[in-house]
Amino acid sequence: MGQPVSKIRAAKLELYRKQGKIHAKAVSGRFNSLRWLCVGLTQIIFYGACWLNWPANGQLRQAVHFDIAHEKLYLFGLVLWPQDALLLALVLLIAATGLFLTTALAGRLFCGFLCPQTVYTSMFTWIEARVEGDHLARLQLDRGPLTLNKIVRKTLKHVLWAALAAWTAITFVGYFTPIRELLPTLADWQVGPWEAFWLIFYAAFTYVQAGLAREAVCQHMCPYSRFQGVMFDPATRSVAYDSKRGEPRSSQRRSSPAGDCIDCGICVEVCPTGIDIRDGLQYACINCGLCIDACDQVMTRIGAPTGLIRFASENELAAMPRQAWFRRPRVIAYAALLLVFAFLGGWTVSRHAELRFDVLRDRGVLARETADGQVENAYTLQVMNLTEEAQEFAVAVVGDGKLQIVGPNTVSAAPGSIAPLQVTVAAPAGALPAGTHALRFHVFSPAQPALHAEEASTFRMPEATGR
Ligand code: SF4
Ligand code: SF4
Repeated sequence: MGQPVSKIRAAKLELYRKQGKIHAKAVSGRFNSLRWLCVGLTQIIFYGACWLNWPANGQLRQAVHFDIAHEKLYLFGLVLWPQDALLLALVLLIAATGLFLTTALAGRLFCGFLCPQTVYTSMFTWIEARVEGDHLARLQLDRGPLTLNKIVRKTLKHVLWAALAAWTAITFVGYFTPIRELLPTLADWQVGPWEAFWLIFYAAFTYVQAGLAREAVCQHMCPYSRFQGVMFDPATRSVAYDSKRGEPRSSQRRSSPAGDCIDCGICVEVCPTGIDIRDGLQYACINCGLCIDACDQVMTRIGAPTGLIRFASENELAAMPRQAWFRRPRVIAYAALLLVFAFLGGWTVSRHAELRFDVLRDRGVLARETADGQVENAYTLQVMNLTEEAQEFAVAVVGDGKLQIVGPNTVSAAPGSIAPLQVTVAAPAGALPAGTHALRFHVFSPAQPALHAEEASTFRMPEATGR
């Protein structure tokens, strides 16, 4: 006599959930397709963008290049310098608040579809399935004795994994050392020590994280899974099992009373992190939706409505009325922060210029009177040359001619550097009333009229002289 079906299913569940490595069953469906679409799009960008060139100064250069040696970041036509750190900080803040807002609205969508850990694990698992077979074949192979077939398949899998990890590392380093320069040095074993270190480190990192650690990263290492709950509210939609509809679960559907869950365990078999969504919201759930695909197929097969597992909020499952977004403090807070950071980012980009300068007044002596009856104020101009060539800049005072620069008024600045320029501004004593007067400095390149900038400052006319 064989075992009852329910016992076999329970044993099968243990097999997938507790013992050793998780070999998830492949499943087709809309969420699986969406996942692969995300893998395709992100990897076309990652593996492809380093090969794009961009015209600059009559030459082609790599369109996306983090030039650490020269402290520059090339993003197509944009060149960012360390002075643009604010813009980079804003981009990070926009990404973080965007992630928080998405999580508050729809749970861990990023984890399930865009997180590099998920994306690379999907790619590594795909290779594993091509070499070792479906999830049952892989389980059998893992548990079986060491045969020639096992050695060949395992070796081939690890070789392919290593090749993918190596190409990923080469691509990653190719964003820092132009990839067209990196590849010939690699072929000749002539890479520098830093490139060698990052190539080895990143290849090993990818191999271990996506090939060996896989779901353990999401379950035990990722801090985001631990604090995601803070962003949730009762209206947050995430992958959930409708226990009102599904329970009591029973493999004997005709038994009464019975919910729609036939306890087939397929939702657990397809889960890449090996959890049972019917146990409720869990930090290990990456919201990939594969259990939705699996359960929808089961429901269709038994003639029940789909959606026993679906994206639903706590309120929705409890049949409570929908909560409008403007009644959700977290959503409002994250959306407001996102808008503020996006506005600041746009403003910073609109002000991005290749020539900038700051004006510092001489704090020691606000104003001094000279023997020839002039009043002088001293300033230091910190002139930033954010072009890629050395520049000669000149400075003038904007105004009605009463204020004049005396002494040196030009400065040379190397590409991407800040050059200090000591400037003295003078006015005849009595030409202006005593007090503080607004003044504007105009810095420009005589050779390139398009390069110019203005900054405001003040000129101090002392009491005794102004009378
Ligand atoms: S796939 Fe659906 S029917 Fe099967 S065990 Fe999971 S929830 Fe129940
Ligand atoms: S429970 Fe469902 S959504 Fe969550 S990780 Fe597993 S398969 Fe993905």
